[in-house]
Amino acid sequence: MSAGTGAKKTPMNDRQAYAILEAVNAATLAIAAEVSPERVLLTIVEQARKLANARYAALGIGWDPTRTFHPWVFSGMSEAEARLLPHFPRPVGLLGAVVREGHAIRLRDISKDPRFHGFPPHHPKMTSFMGVPIRYKDETIGNLYLTEKIGAEEFSEEDERAVKMLAAHAAIAYRQAQLYEQLQVERARLETVFENSPAAIVFVEATTDRVYENKAAETLFGLPLRPDIGRQQYLGLIRSPDGVPLSLEDLPSSRALRGEVVIGAELVVRSAEGRDVPVLVNAAPVRGGDGTVTGAVTILQDITPLKLERLREEFISAVSHDLRTPIGVISGFGDLLGRWMSKEGAPENEKRAVEAIKTSARRLNRMVQDLLDASRLEAHRLTLEKQAVDVAALVREVVDRLGTVLAPHPVRVEAPEAMPPVMADPGRIEQVLTNLLTNAAKYSGPESEILVRAQARPKEVVVAVTDHGPGIPPEDIPKLFTRFYRTEAARAASPEGLGIGLYISRGLIEAHGGRIWVESEPGKGSTFCFTLPVQ
Ligand code: ADP
Repeated sequence: MSAGTGAKKTPMNDRQAYAILEAVNAATLAIAAEVSPERVLLTIVEQARKLANARYAALGIGWDPTRTFHPWVFSGMSEAEARLLPHFPRPVGLLGAVVREGHAIRLRDISKDPRFHGFPPHHPKMTSFMGVPIRYKDETIGNLYLTEKIGAEEFSEEDERAVKMLAAHAAIAYRQAQLYEQLQVERARLETVFENSPAAIVFVEATTDRVYENKAAETLFGLPLRPDIGRQQYLGLIRSPDGVPLSLEDLPSSRALRGEVVIGAELVVRSAEGRDVPVLVNAAPVRGGDGTVTGAVTILQDITPLKLERLREEFISAVSHDLRTPIGVISGFGDLLGRWMSKEGAPENEKRAVEAIKTSARRLNRMVQDLLDASRLEAHRLTLEKQAVDVAALVREVVDRLGTVLAPHPVRVEAPEAMPPVMADPGRIEQVLTNLLTNAAKYSGPESEILVRAQARPKEVVVAVTDHGPGIPPEDIPKLFTRFYRTEAARAASPEGLGIGLYISRGLIEAHGGRIWVESEPGKGSTFCFTLPVQ
């Protein structure tokens, strides 16, 4: 091994070359043994001290004079001696000079150098000094310091060369150890995410076909898969929505291994217990640094709740559509029958029977309409036919139209002659008003007054429907506008009602950009309010 080219430089002797090798080996071993970057630096510092025959050695990573070196490792000083020192040093004074100047400094007596600012109290006496910068990729990242040469007055040029060589290795070793540590941290983080993810995750290694799965995947498949058997074991477990098992080539992981990205495939997992679980599957290839596919990651999400919701929606809209035709026939013939009877002068009880048929058909129709509206709102398929609407006029019209339905409740309307127009679907606003007014009538004493107020505010109009019924307990209020919710009292007072009128009203008002809410005092009554924005 040759240690330099300068004419003045003496070649490195065997002892030094051997010591360097030993030092580098120790550092490499430290990395291989997965120790911390600090531990690697400590090995280097100890080897440097031995190499240059120094009493003390220290190594600090850092270049910012406002911050202490971090890490700062030292050798030769006892723990007790070190504890007496106030804090780790900063790259200032002589220690800073090595970093700043970027070259080695060798001194026979530190105290004679103008760059030396003195030792802190309790610091051991030090005279000879050698500082060597630690460089990584053209940047000085810290220094290696040696003091108190044993057996000589100062450090030699050979010492400097040997320690410089060691410093070069120190930089690489430290960086490697740091990267390794970062890698470990990242890996641990990834493992935590992988293990605890609520979605089932399966990783397949390309070269070995080994599979790794997380806890959620184990639960989904109903058995722990064996890493060594590979994708083979999914045969029969993963199926198309109609129940046909996927072939090995069609498995999402196989497609990903071929470089394909699989997004949102709807499949079925038949678990080991024979349970079918609908899943949404995404799979993607995992590529190495050179772009080759090294593995495939597959994520499976149980979509049972989504499926149920979709089924429910399909059921409601199919049933509602199918019911409308027979209801239409019943009310049509009910009307016809009613007209015949009044012509023929039929007995009163028969007329009442026909009226009952007509009223029931109307109520049935209303319920079916409500179910349809609810499913349209949920599917965002409800369209509004907006036009300029005078809400005050609309309120009066609706109250008039509902006359007999609201009787025997006296209804008072407080609304200005005219109001600033709002852009709204009048049919839908009428539906909301009808719901609030019929509720007020349904849930309050027969003779009690219902008050409807319409008011214009700077940016919106507000409509309030007040009744003097039993009011609503505060704990029910947040649930009132959710679908199918009815209070205990309502169920007892009136068996009729699906509990979706307010839910639809909220959907309709919010679709108009307005708000709907209730203010209620149990025992005194309730006021339902809604707003519509003025354009
Ligand atoms: P429905 O009247 O068909 O039950 P709604 O969605 O219109 O459905 O109302 C939901 C629930 O809110 C009612 O069941 C009742 O418990 C309560 N509610 C609505 N309006 C009033 C009111 N004016 N006074 C007291 N409770 C009311």
